[in-house]
Amino acid sequence: MDFEPSVSSEQLSAFRREFHRHAESGFSEFWTTAFLASRLSEAGCAVLVGEEALCREARMGVPEEAVQQARLAAALEQGADPYWLERMHGLTGLIADIRPDLPPHTVLRFDIDAVDVDESQSPAHFPAREGFRSLNAHESHACGHDGHAAIGLGTALELVRLKDCLRHNVRLIFEPAEEGLRGAAAMVKAGAVEGAKYFFAAHIGVNARQSGELVCGTEGFLASTKFDAEFFGKAAHAGAEPHEGRNSLLAAASAVLNLHAIPRHGKGETRIAVGRMESGTGRNVIPSYAKLICETRGSNTEVNDWMFEQARRILEHSAAMYGQECRITLMGGGGTAASDRAMCELVRRASENIPYFRHELVKDMGRGFGADDACAFLEAVQAQGGMGTYAQIGSHLPAGHHSPDFDFDESLLLPSVELFCRVALELDARK
Ligand SMILES: [Zn+2]
Ligand SMILES: [Zn+2]
Repeated sequence: MDFEPSVSSEQLSAFRREFHRHAESGFSEFWTTAFLASRLSEAGCAVLVGEEALCREARMGVPEEAVQQARLAAALEQGADPYWLERMHGLTGLIADIRPDLPPHTVLRFDIDAVDVDESQSPAHFPAREGFRSLNAHESHACGHDGHAAIGLGTALELVRLKDCLRHNVRLIFEPAEEGLRGAAAMVKAGAVEGAKYFFAAHIGVNARQSGELVCGTEGFLASTKFDAEFFGKAAHAGAEPHEGRNSLLAAASAVLNLHAIPRHGKGETRIAVGRMESGTGRNVIPSYAKLICETRGSNTEVNDWMFEQARRILEHSAAMYGQECRITLMGGGGTAASDRAMCELVRRASENIPYFRHELVKDMGRGFGADDACAFLEAVQAQGGMGTYAQIGSHLPAGHHSPDFDFDESLLLPSVELFCRVALELDARK
């Protein structure tokens, strides 16, 4: 089927700027989900929200209830559609089916969450200059997911227009809480990719840092586990009765040094990081509580699981050494998956019809970020005999991902919609 997009570049930029202004961090994408749900259902997509889209209990690293309530109130104040907010039952993210009469055949994934970072106010920063900076303090689209959401919306509007020509169901997943690898597992658990044969996702930038560049597939993702460790000791007067206390700061400090001393693994690359340590109240008080924020990574699931088991042992024994308990809470994580060569080839062919992608800048396979939650979907599709790929859409970036000045080249939006549509149409012609 030949394909000519009907959505305009201006329309896509307008969507992108709306998403950008309403930047919401993981599991708080209330405005974003309601906006998408309302536009998608108006256009004729079948929209699944709430527990139909993701399993509440399988979410990891959900912000505290008070934070969630404040963010929900902010979304309402910013004009989020109350009809959809009510149907979401506090859960963000959604699924849009083009042909809901059929099971999903091709799944396209778009992540919609923002990063916990304060956006730049500098006039050199394009969103600040053009007046579409994030309305929400400490939440900003510093990873380009505003662009992903706009591309997803544009793609759905195109595909639903072609609905009568499609032989299968194309399912679009709008994933919450990609940052920290928290959202995908909950959607997979709810059956989001059950029965799907093909999977396609893409990220703006990553290692494709020139406009017109395209990396059709990605390998070298690291499996990862994110977790918090809390130590519960006993406070006491540091001068008068230090022997009565059980020092959580010491237990945590001992754990930190030993975590970073876990030996390498012969079967793959590994990483460990303690990103933050909190403890203590006053100069003369034995600290009764400490918290560590940690992650492990591995070039395959086996070595990552091994790292996490070593970490757990060290944390528990460090606590025992200082006479106290340690509680470990999983905050996110996922396995690893590599793109299938045949799918990279298909994406390359689809890109040849789109002038934006410059032939000499199209590569079959590249390295990714450390991790992307898309792996959880890709792994699930591959496990049921399907295949998929994760592409990188090139853009000049004035600053790196997750930096307050991050921005991307909006002229990639329309060609990206065209790429997703062409890939989906090509796959739809297959069994
Ligand atoms: Zn990111
Ligand atoms: Zn990202």
